[in-house]
Amino acid sequence: MPLKRGIGISSGVVIGEAVVLDTNETRMPKRMIPPEQVQGELALLDRVFESAKSEVASERVQFSARAGAELADIFGFHEGWLSDSKPRKEIAALISEKLYSAAYAISIFMRRYRRRFQEMASPFLQERARDILDIERRLIRHATGEMHQELSAEGDPKIVIAHDLTPSQIVLMEKSGRLLGLATDAGGATSHTAIIAAGLGIPAVVGLEDITSNVSGGDTVVIDGLHGVVIINPDEAQRGEYTATAAQLKELRASLDQLRDLPAETKDGERVELLGNIEFPSEVDGCIAKGASGIGLFRTEFLFLQQPTPPDEEQQYQAYCQALEAVGDRPLVIRTLDLGGDKIHPGGGWEAERNPFLGLRSIRYSLQHLPLFRPQLRAIVRASAHGDVRIMFPLISRIMELRQAKFVLNLVMEELEDEGYEFKNTIPIGVMVETPAAAICARELAHETDFMSIGTNDLIQYTLAVDRTNERVSQLFTPADPSIIRLIRSVVRHGRRGGSSVSMCGEMAGDPMFTILLVGLGLRSFSMAAGNIPRVKKVIRAITLTDAERVRRRVMGFETEREVLNYLRDETRKVWEEF
Ligand code: PEP
Ligand code: MG
Repeated sequence: MPLKRGIGISSGVVIGEAVVLDTNETRMPKRMIPPEQVQGELALLDRVFESAKSEVASERVQFSARAGAELADIFGFHEGWLSDSKPRKEIAALISEKLYSAAYAISIFMRRYRRRFQEMASPFLQERARDILDIERRLIRHATGEMHQELSAEGDPKIVIAHDLTPSQIVLMEKSGRLLGLATDAGGATSHTAIIAAGLGIPAVVGLEDITSNVSGGDTVVIDGLHGVVIINPDEAQRGEYTATAAQLKELRASLDQLRDLPAETKDGERVELLGNIEFPSEVDGCIAKGASGIGLFRTEFLFLQQPTPPDEEQQYQAYCQALEAVGDRPLVIRTLDLGGDKIHPGGGWEAERNPFLGLRSIRYSLQHLPLFRPQLRAIVRASAHGDVRIMFPLISRIMELRQAKFVLNLVMEELEDEGYEFKNTIPIGVMVETPAAAICARELAHETDFMSIGTNDLIQYTLAVDRTNERVSQLFTPADPSIIRLIRSVVRHGRRGGSSVSMCGEMAGDPMFTILLVGLGLRSFSMAAGNIPRVKKVIRAITLTDAERVRRRVMGFETEREVLNYLRDETRKVWEEF
């Protein structure tokens, strides 16, 4: 049965029933349905039109109360259009004759229909194209909304197949307790969608390009996150393979878990710190259980992505205290809000940007939204009274951003002192080094920080000019590029000379293939998804510093990513046969 290859995310393997979500609002992926599903999609189409119509009617009433009946007439066109039976019939024909899913048929029909208006000479009629787009969005929202409900209804956990999913959608689905695994057309290995799936331990394969056109709701699907494979309606032999891989993984995990209480130390006694990355306080326990000696990255924006309104100071304080309680006397590095890019708040109010990863993202957003940033800093500072809290600012690209962030932090501390709160006034302050600018100016940043953590996910994206979420260029996204390795080396050297400690918390830190090299480059602290800790520890315990330095010297002489990868794979296999 069909087998599709993409990018494996978390090393789990699952089998289950698929639910297909058409999530891309304006450009629906092409999805075909089997003939027996036509009646179901036609019924869905009717429901979608009916609910869109009643929604417009109630909006018209509300709007007319606020702005007068005349202005409310703009809804008249929408209502009239939705009541006309002709468009509905034409969409129904696309479903029954071309076997398109309802959502795809709507989007195809509406696009063609809109184009007709756009090409008209009259500006009045051209303007109607905007109304058509509005109606299209409304219809598609209803069509996809029903599918989301399918997941939240009672029943067995399902495998979600989607064009793309935002991190907040995954969080919400996971909360339903019915998300077994997922596969998407879009996405790269370090997209936040992938990171959140790995963090939550959901087996996932992303970047499959056309999985939504190949799977229908109700199909049985195997998600093999280890090999990046999806099998649709597996036959007996494939089911057998799936069972064998699952057993193999279980065995590997059990053997690695035996390393839990052993130190992460090279054969010649050099200690390496292994910390965990989390998105939610509840993940701390999982990190400790895998042997983490603290949390090196708490991606706090996920507290914001999981609910429609931002958590207030008190809710955040509670979340940080919960994480601290679980972490005990180990360190907890709390990264301030890193919203923007592919982490958009579900409550709306975000202005669409042409290049969101180069836009108002992360620390830039926080510094321009002090009513959001200050409560977060207050909550973190208050939590510092209860443990080893450290504060890390993300996406610093110029020293003035660091100074501004520290200025706001100082103001917040003065304020809290006046209000009589207890807190540590020596909280270590660090930055993420995840822009080429920060990497190049590491020494200057080091002068004004206690620690710095290399965020390779963004550092690679910005250095190689490769969108970390775009499956079309995912093969160009690699930590093995010589430019990345040289940048890391420079950050480690200059950061240290500038007086800051340097660690790494991007996905590269959790990939055992790079462990020998990173130790050779001088790094002694790594933070990663809990599941990767045992594998990285396994490699560290099998090498000496002399090995690591030899590997580093050799790699620094390579000119291509291929040479680096082949060499590192061989070197890793020398110390860990099954790798
Ligand atoms: C990074 O960019 O490497 C990083 C750790 O931050 P995030 O993945 O949350 O952008
Ligand atoms: Mg980042």
